[in-house]
Parts: sequence; C-alpha cells; structure tokens
Amino acid sequence: MNSHEHQPDFSQGVAFVRGRYVPIAEAAIPITDWGFLRSDAAYDVVTVWEGAFFRLDAHLERFEKSCARFRLNPGLAPAQITDILTQCVRLSGLKSSYVEMICTRGQPPWGSRDPRQAVNQFYAFAVPYVWIANEEQRKRGLHVQISDVERISPRSVDPTAKNYHWNDMTMGLLGALDAGAESVVLTDGAGNVVEGPGFNIFSVKNGVITTPDRGVLEGITRRTVIEMAQSRSIPVQLGTLSADALRASDEVFLSTSGGGVLPVTKVDNQAIGSGNVGPVTQSLTALYWEWHEDPRYKTVIQYA
Ligand SMILES: *Cc1c(COP(=O)(O)O)cnc(C)c1O
Repeated sequence: MNSHEHQPDFSQGVAFVRGRYVPIAEAAIPITDWGFLRSDAAYDVVTVWEGAFFRLDAHLERFEKSCARFRLNPGLAPAQITDILTQCVRLSGLKSSYVEMICTRGQPPWGSRDPRQAVNQFYAFAVPYVWIANEEQRKRGLHVQISDVERISPRSVDPTAKNYHWNDMTMGLLGALDAGAESVVLTDGAGNVVEGPGFNIFSVKNGVITTPDRGVLEGITRRTVIEMAQSRSIPVQLGTLSADALRASDEVFLSTSGGGVLPVTKVDNQAIGSGNVGPVTQSLTALYWEWHEDPRYKTVIQYA
C-alpha cells in the first residue's frame, strides 16, 4: 500500500470475497468460477430493516438446504455465515439492506471437468434495500403479464433450491416489459402460474387465499404470508393456480424479500377485481411490517 491509501468507501455496500471485505463496486469473482460459467450456485437473500435481520434463521436454514440439494458446501456453519453477513452490514452502515449469501461450485483443477473436484466458494454482500416494486407501484398495484415462457421444469432444476437459472425469468420479463407490463409471472406449461423473477404469487377469491404448491421456491415471505393469514383466520389453500383463476381473482399479490407483500391490480392488461388494491392485500402488507417489530423474527445488529 502507498501513501494514497485511504479508507475504502463502504457506503454503497460491502461484499465478502474469499476472506476479504471490499466495497461492493470492487467485488469480483474469478471468471473461471463455475458459479459464473455454469450458473452453478445456490444462494439466499435476507433483509435488514431498521437495523435488524428479519427471519435470519429461516433464510440460513433454506440456504443450507439449497446448498445440500446441489451438492455444494460453503464450508461455514450458520453462526459463521451470520458473522460474515453481520460484518458486511455493519461496515456498510446500512440500516435497511438486501443481504445475499452465495455458494458457488468454484472450479475443478485444470484439465478436470469433475465437479466433485471443485473447491466450493462462499461469497456474500450487503447493499441498500431492494424493492421489486417502486413507491407508485406499491400504492396503485403492479401490472403483470402472464408469460408464454414456461418456468424451467422442476424435473430439470429443483426450484425449491434458490438458484440462478433465470433465463426463463429474464426472457419472460423482457417480453412483459416490451408489452407494457411491469413484471411477469411464468407458467408450468399446463396452464398454471408458478412464480416470477424473485417472488411468489397469490390469488384471493371469495375470501380464500391460494398460492401454488409446486414448481416454486418456497419463499420465506410466502411462509410469512401463510402464517399471517392463519393469525387472521383467513383460509389459505396450497395447490395449483390456473392462469384463468388468477385473472378472475378478487385480489392478486406477490410476496418477496424485495418488499414484502406487493399488490397486483392488472394481469394481462385487465383489472383485477375493482382495479384497486384490495383489503386482504392491504391488511397483510400492514401486518408484514408490524411483524418486523416482533422479537421472534428479528436479529438486532450492533453497529460500531
Ligand atoms: C427468492 C425467490 C422468491 C421469494 O422468496 P423470498 O424468500 O420470499 O424472498 C420466489 N421465487 C424465486 C424464484 C426466488 O428466487
């Protein structure tokens, strides 16, 4: 280091890369890591709201399962991962943050194409909180399109392990954006909706909430929605949700760590119900933020 050395700027976010904490803009992985070359990785995203992680244990547990499913081993216990994530957030100073943990395949020795010989790698980063819907969209509801792009078959890539096989999502999203919608929901090829880029989907009809039970990542926010509905005695049905049933809903909403419960007021350019954000969606949204105060779900961060 030379005399020009200065304090790194961590304010835009911090990454943990192979044992070091670096400003997010400087974070990089080797081009030969199969995480990049093969999308060969498992990941998870947990959020920090007003200085505390929300449902950290649930995210760590799911991350462990996702890694095991893909025969990846981050080589760190949940408590060690917690320390790294906490340090990323602490260094950034962010009180509300989007925190990602990743395990990649790494790379096998030169000349080998045997994934068992690869040294798996762990990465993490904390950046400012990410909203899947902007403020206006959260107020008036998102406009989504049901894509004719099929979600990758669960028989090909297990959707219950959080992964980066997103070409279906991205192509679907591009089509939806081109058509003037704001986001996209993919189907299973049998006329049922499954999920969209980073979120689960829910329909409310005659007071009953329905969300797909297969072909989806079991979102932690989805779990929170189910538990919140139970706490309010709103019936929840886990099962198939046809595209037609979705269009005929009284209310539609999404769930994601990127903003919680997000209203949808148009599907395929047709108004859902009254065309306004409905009462079930509104009450679950309010409860989602209330639950952030609940000591059962928060892990408070000690900032320096
Ligand atoms: C992350 C993700 C979700 C939402 O999961 P949360 O734990 O609620 O954030 C849903 N579907 C896919 C494909 C995802 O990657």
